[in-house]
Amino acid sequence: MTHEQQPDQPAPCRPCQELALAEAVANAEYDWSKATDCRVLMKRHRESGECMAGQSV
Ligand SMILES: [Zn+2]
Repeated sequence: MTHEQQPDQPAPCRPCQELALAEAVANAEYDWSKATDCRVLMKRHRESGECMAGQSV
């Protein structure tokens, strides 16, 4: 018992985080086309199977 146990939660997926952040920024700037782009990229990223978040929303 020398190692601390890590909480068993899925590692955050960096592309997801970056796209979510970019979408939030775009929304804050009322840049709807950019926000839409972010959602499309997020969807494509998840459908590509390279998403490590393992969540389906
Ligand atoms: Zn992801």
